[in-house]
Amino acid sequence: MDDFKLSTFLLTFLYIFVWQVVQKALDDANVSESDLSAVAVTIGPGLSLCLRVGVHKARKIAKVFHLPIVGVHHMEAHALVSRLVNKDLDYPFLALLISGGHNLLVLAQNLGEYVQLGTTIDDAIGEAYDKSARWLGLDIRKGGGPALEELALEGDPNSINFRVPMRQHKDCNFSYAGLKTQVRLAIESRNLCTDDIPISSATEEDRQLRANIAASFQRIAVLHLEDRCQRAVEWALKMEPSIKHFVVSGGVASNQYVRAHLNHIAEKNGLQLVSPPPSLCTDNGVMIAWTGIEHFLAGRFEDPPPADEPDDMQYELRPRWPLGEEYSEGRSVSR
Ligand code: ATP
Ligand code: FE
Repeated sequence: MDDFKLSTFLLTFLYIFVWQVVQKALDDANVSESDLSAVAVTIGPGLSLCLRVGVHKARKIAKVFHLPIVGVHHMEAHALVSRLVNKDLDYPFLALLISGGHNLLVLAQNLGEYVQLGTTIDDAIGEAYDKSARWLGLDIRKGGGPALEELALEGDPNSINFRVPMRQHKDCNFSYAGLKTQVRLAIESRNLCTDDIPISSATEEDRQLRANIAASFQRIAVLHLEDRCQRAVEWALKMEPSIKHFVVSGGVASNQYVRAHLNHIAEKNGLQLVSPPPSLCTDNGVMIAWTGIEHFLAGRFEDPPPADEPDDMQYELRPRWPLGEEYSEGRSVSR
């Protein structure tokens, strides 16, 4: 199949899929399109192809039912869903967003107003969990992160000396590419045939070794989070001394080990940890809808599309969309 045919096939599949998902959501909620007040849709960041499919469907509903549209930032939605589960959570607050493609530390000053304190310079932590899980031969049908978290419970987290990334950098940025390589080397140097032998067929000794690698990886991955979060709390409190909450969200925030260690950082600094339940940490429609409501109530929405808007119109998408301004003083503030 050439590239053009493949992308047309993929697009058609995605359109049908989105149509079914939207219908199921409406059925489950026992409402119809005419009951809606507005349509919220992710416009970035992400793959243009996927964004376009969602926006196309959203505009179609908005056009037919004459509804306003709210364009949502995917990572802002990961952060703001915390306000749905904790009604005391008000601005300003500090947020760590850890997912498959992002590692963000942001100071949320108000709705839509963020200062980015740190980001990853290469891979996100979720990517490191996913790759490590695959290299360890785990069953990743329910996701690499959960599989690795489970195996790590059987391992000794101090058995392998992985290096904590970026200790010499006095900033709030992250790096997980090097830790990923360390996991790969640990597997290779122990002659573990993880490519050929899945964990379910491994000997007891082999399984223990893999569990030790998983637990040691997780310990260092989270130590790196703790280092950067401690510094970010200090920076954030200097800028906004009234901060009371530390939000942790995104798929990796479902992890109990991660939550426990970040709760410790929050408590140590007199902050309250707010982390949504796992079902709202990984990608979900509720977070997009909720963020849409927040913006809608603040008067930030687009008018309904005109009735004569063509179906093949090119909409504004934001595949690359930073969440707020970078904190420029960062480098000069050190512990
Ligand atoms: P992004 O939000 O950056 O665009 P994404 O939307 O693909 O990326 P999410 O759905 O927010 O990411 O999160 C998925 C990631 O979370 C995956 O990398 C997955 O392995 C990881 N993850 C989910 N559960 C756990 C867990 N229990 N432990 C560690 N990682 C986890
Ligand atoms: Fe996500």
